Amino acid sequence: MNLKEIYIHNGALLEGHFILSSGNHSRNYLQSAKVLENPKVAEMLAIELAQMIKSSGIEIDTICSPALGGLLAGYELARALGIRFIFTERKDGEMQLRRGFSVQKGERVLICEDIITTGGSALEAGREIERFGGKIVGFSAIANRGFCKRIGGTFETDKTCKLPKDLPLFAIDDFTFEIYSPNNCPICAEGTPAIKPGSRGNN
Ligand code: ZN
Repeated sequence: MNLKEIYIHNGALLEGHFILSSGNHSRNYLQSAKVLENPKVAEMLAIELAQMIKSSGIEIDTICSPALGGLLAGYELARALGIRFIFTERKDGEMQLRRGFSVQKGERVLICEDIITTGGSALEAGREIERFGGKIVGFSAIANRGFCKRIGGTFETDKTCKLPKDLPLFAIDDFTFEIYSPNNCPICAEGTPAIKPGSRGNN
């Protein structure tokens, strides 16, 4: 499977001048919603990811995704693994488990995102699950931006990665792009305005 081709084919690998959820700037943006809008593609990607997770041998009771970004990927992954799916969402800036969802003490939960960049939202979702007594057994995403080391990946964990080093990260492939601090961004220097695609803090 060539994940990059799938993103390009679905118009999900954007080029321009983007503000990432971290606040940094980039020439590229992965709009996973454009890939996942096709349920057949979403299903195919989830099956690929589920196979990687199954072959690792880890045992999972439940998938949890941080809304909104992780919902479709997480739901499809839960379907492919035949397990339960729940989600956390931001309320007043805090990642919370709402809507009557509950987690049993010791329940083994895998966090699933569409894309893992530094893993900030995924980690917050994990902390909320732990607050309910659940046990985080790992993290997963369709694609990894290359800041966190994934199982089978070639990139080492960058200092900006927020995920715990003792838990596995599963992703189908890595996408690595240059990112720039807004104070030192060559695209800003070219004079083009930066835009913030739909993401955290921007619906
Ligand atoms: Zn810029």
